[in-house]
Amino acid sequence: MNSDVLIIGAGVIGLCIARELHKKGFRRIEIVERGKAGQEASFAAAGMLAPNAETDKIDDFYHFCSESNGLYPGFAAELLEETGIDIELDRSGTLFLAFSEKDAAVLRNRFNWQRDAGLRVEHLTAAETLGLEPFISTDVCESLFFADDWQVENRKLLAALLKYTQLNGIEIQEHTEIQRICLEDGKITGAESASNKFLADLTILATGAWTSLIKLGEAAMPIIVKPIRGQMIGFHPHERLFQRVIYSPRGYIVPRADGRILTGATVEDAGFDKSVTEDGVGKLREAALEIAPCLGDFEISDRWTGLRPFAAEGLPILGEIPNAGNLFVATAHYRNGILLAPLTAKIIAARIAEGKVSEYLKIFHPQRFRGVEQLSQLL
Ligand SMILES: Cc1cc2nc3c(=O)[nH]c(=O)nc-3n(C[C@H](O)[C@H](O)[C@H](O)COP(=O)(O)OP(=O)(O)OC[C@H]3O[C@@H](n4cnc5c(N)ncnc54)[C@H](O)[C@@H]3O)c2cc1C
Repeated sequence: MNSDVLIIGAGVIGLCIARELHKKGFRRIEIVERGKAGQEASFAAAGMLAPNAETDKIDDFYHFCSESNGLYPGFAAELLEETGIDIELDRSGTLFLAFSEKDAAVLRNRFNWQRDAGLRVEHLTAAETLGLEPFISTDVCESLFFADDWQVENRKLLAALLKYTQLNGIEIQEHTEIQRICLEDGKITGAESASNKFLADLTILATGAWTSLIKLGEAAMPIIVKPIRGQMIGFHPHERLFQRVIYSPRGYIVPRADGRILTGATVEDAGFDKSVTEDGVGKLREAALEIAPCLGDFEISDRWTGLRPFAAEGLPILGEIPNAGNLFVATAHYRNGILLAPLTAKIIAARIAEGKVSEYLKIFHPQRFRGVEQLSQLL
């Protein structure tokens, strides 16, 4: 098949771009996925939509996160209408707890500058915090409340995006690993696996942590993305104990609508090793019990890992390889790919369908890698 658009990678980024392009009228879209669709980082994630709780400055990346967050209510409503799947967007806000004077100093600093910058943040006493979440530790000293930091059930988001592809004739070829982007006479013609060639007018790399393993013609991929492992554990009390996402400086808990509580996450440079380790699980359990000692009454019901795609400065890589004209990259969303998926898809699709170049494409462009600059001169 000769597609209009070939998307490599069926994570949240590839799937969202496929949907957005389809909504803009593209009809021959093919996705190629090395494993099963939607089973890597996007499946492992905690689903927090948190532009504010972890930020220490207002910069382009903050605006990108915040703007994408603002798309979520409409995005969730559209997906429900299109697929019948509720992605459980929960807008109850996020708490960030302090358990010591040292923790509190960091929180107060964040509160002061965020308040001065006009962000929605509240400083709560221990009593106010316990009033909101009675099952957390009574050792809490104070907290910040971020009303604009939400969560979504990322596995349902993936299910909704996959249903969209099924309903709209977007083909996904699973268990097919792309090895090379095909380059003929200075033009990208598609991509190839060990046994197949996928011809397309336009190719998009949405390959997450694995992006640098793919060859570009005979050359190495000039974009450096590395995997950063995140381990997670889960508890499953039979009733819902917490109402909102709760952070401490050492971890977080995310309560799902069905009662599950996710705890995350380690940040480890372990190559492509996706093992769960005793050490990782121990640290996560400790962080969870600091936030809520009552979790010690429950067995760990689940444990898993995912590989976050990380590039220089922790910033995404978005846009076209210059002069190729028909090769785009959308990767390296690192810790915020669920949050950033809707806006990433919109700006990539607007660039492809209408030639609109969003400011964010100018900021997060792939040319910031020297090799891309050199490659584009050859094309
Ligand atoms: C533990 C953990 C917690 C996280 N929590 C959050 C959170 O709370 N909020 C948030 O916003 N983000 C979070 N993230 C980050 C988020 O999960 C990622 O940024 C996001 O999922 C990246 O999406 P992706 O589609 O680029 O990558 P992936 O979901 O990894 O998808 C990439 C896909 O490309 C496929 N692929 C790769 N190479 C090839 C190839 N050669 N041929 C074919 N297919 C290929 C892979 O198999 C994979 O399916 C978390 C991540 C982890 C690991």
